[in-house]
Amino acid sequence: MSGLESIPGLGPKTREKLSHLGINDSVDLINHFPTRYLDFSHSINIKDAIINETATFTGIVSTFQNIFTRYSKNLQKASLTDSTGRIELIWFNQPYLSKNIKIGETLSVAGTVSTFQNKKTIIAPEYGQYNTGKIIPVYPETKGLTSKWFRKIITTNIETLKQNSIDQIPGNILKQFKLSNQKDSLYQIHCPENLKKLEIARNRLAVDEIISLQAQSLLNKKEWESQKPQKILKTNKNIDHQISQFIDSLPFTLTDSQVKVWSEVKKDLLSKTKITNRLIQGDVGSGKTMIALLSCYLAHLNNTVSLFIAPTEILAEQHYKSFRQLLIETHNVPIFLLTGSSKLNLKELPSNSIIIATHAAIFQKEEFKSKLGVFIVDEQHKFGVKQRSFLSDMINPPHSLTMTATPIPRTISLTMLGNLDLSNIDTLPQNRLQIKTFLVSENKRKTDCYQWLKEHIKNTHQQAFIVCPFIDISESMASVKSAIQEYEQFSKVIFPDLKVGLLHGRLKSEEKEKIIRDFKDNKINILVTTPIIEVGVDIPNSTTIIIQSADRFGLAQLHQLRGRVGRGADQSFCYLFSDLNNEKVENRLKFLEKNSEGLKIAEYDLKNRGPGEIFSVIQHGFPSLKIANMSDAVLISQSQEILKAILEDNPFFDLTKLIKNHTKTDKLVTN
Ligand code: ADP
Ligand code: MG
Repeated sequence: MSGLESIPGLGPKTREKLSHLGINDSVDLINHFPTRYLDFSHSINIKDAIINETATFTGIVSTFQNIFTRYSKNLQKASLTDSTGRIELIWFNQPYLSKNIKIGETLSVAGTVSTFQNKKTIIAPEYGQYNTGKIIPVYPETKGLTSKWFRKIITTNIETLKQNSIDQIPGNILKQFKLSNQKDSLYQIHCPENLKKLEIARNRLAVDEIISLQAQSLLNKKEWESQKPQKILKTNKNIDHQISQFIDSLPFTLTDSQVKVWSEVKKDLLSKTKITNRLIQGDVGSGKTMIALLSCYLAHLNNTVSLFIAPTEILAEQHYKSFRQLLIETHNVPIFLLTGSSKLNLKELPSNSIIIATHAAIFQKEEFKSKLGVFIVDEQHKFGVKQRSFLSDMINPPHSLTMTATPIPRTISLTMLGNLDLSNIDTLPQNRLQIKTFLVSENKRKTDCYQWLKEHIKNTHQQAFIVCPFIDISESMASVKSAIQEYEQFSKVIFPDLKVGLLHGRLKSEEKEKIIRDFKDNKINILVTTPIIEVGVDIPNSTTIIIQSADRFGLAQLHQLRGRVGRGADQSFCYLFSDLNNEKVENRLKFLEKNSEGLKIAEYDLKNRGPGEIFSVIQHGFPSLKIANMSDAVLISQSQEILKAILEDNPFFDLTKLIKNHTKTDKLVTN
């Protein structure tokens, strides 16, 4: 690997600046790809300049003026003349241009033609040989290193730079898949000869990025498969019987999807050689908790400890209560709750315990890990990276399951989750009606929403959530609704005859618990709250949710919030209010209004907001892709085919060679 010292013009100060962009050697430099291009390849005579069209013009600089205006602003005016006419040029605040642009010299300029004071003018044109007359790359910049700078340094050194790149995809595979070779692709990405060649180069380099992720995921899978489960679970007639008896005792029958997923999970959990590493996707309200419960019960019947962790205390408590209700009376199962406010002596646990905990409470309980047979994470996307590494240092980790309501688009699972098995609970329990969702304009807030809600609660005795983004009124965002302020408003002014409660994260555990209990018992009609209720909270009699400042939330999060209603047989309603009235926000919220499927919503987010939203679900370090697009299904299956062909050709191919530094992620296991 060669350094940057050998490149003329790259002194220590410049190298320091480059390091801010992660560029530390010449390989990094040639892999500093443009984010977009300006097509200045159209070179024409000045008389043919057309307003609003982009082109390159070459002529003689006939005038140049540095003009100082008031408020220490300045502008630079020049005119360019060729044999056919004259065009004006204007720049702002670039007094140093007088050094580069000299009257009487030949100059090429490029930009979009407009009119200024009735003359054809180019505002802030690009100029000079590296910036005109062709397709011009636009680079990610840093202070002191502009796109212009990158164009010059990369263009003048491109031959040397590309020599350092070694094509890791074998030649015969390149031929078979009609891929351009890496050296050519690197050349074209920086100095494109035409749009077609640029496209071919971009595809090749995008393939490299996706293959890097796929190779990594394949290696993770191999590593995972080489480990043995910490505790082996078994079944027999007795255990089978107890499980079916338990399922029969439930107040409902399992949906077909739950039955299917349970059989997949059970098969995994009973494997003697393979450790379960399964992600269970199921839209909000699809009944994922039952799968967790059955898994814990199987561990219990095997005389092993199981741990079910939830992201919030409220949720942990809710799970604890429903587990106890369903299991303890008839089955006498030791179930324990471990949260910040309920302590538990882990040393003296019965060996067949089911423990429900918050992560904060279980974190760093090292001695306890070795007892675990089954480990389940609920609402995985709510955990941070550090928290999720709970078991990643174990040599033989327990069987692991993860539950999420944010579905992973197929393109992502094919790219990054090769080591994860996926199960889908793809139907909701039958008695559910679709939640009616409305984006309500501000002027109809009182009549169409609050007035309606008042009547609705009086008539049906059903309940409602009102969600606000923040707890306190925030000074910088006075229009963003805060829970405390809204609570005052609702309890005193808008719904004085109804019982309004307030729930937020800063209350003490006991207070939170009491409010949730009162709400569950219908002693509170309307609960004003923050997104802490986002995950899991299950109160089927609450059928309306009003989301204030909905523009502040991602779609996946809004979908989760909406999932707090529609959990019983009654018709549910979701009202969205937005503080911003721009078209983009409106489109996003309208999409939610019209769509109820989590997967569609996740795919919309992936297309429109990039992988951030989705990746937080599986995030173990975020791959920063420079060229490839995670929602490009064609690219992803092409890359998959290529990787397959490489390995068919040579089963011993060293996959690490395909892994690129910038796409590196942490180990992708669910825990
Ligand atoms: P989620 O998938 O969002 O975690 P839950 O597991 O909390 O969903 O289930 C939502 C609600 O549906 C709970 O009240 C639960 O008791 C109920 N439920 C679960 N399975 C079924 C079923 N097969 N039929 C009817 N209701 C069910
Ligand atoms: Mg849940």
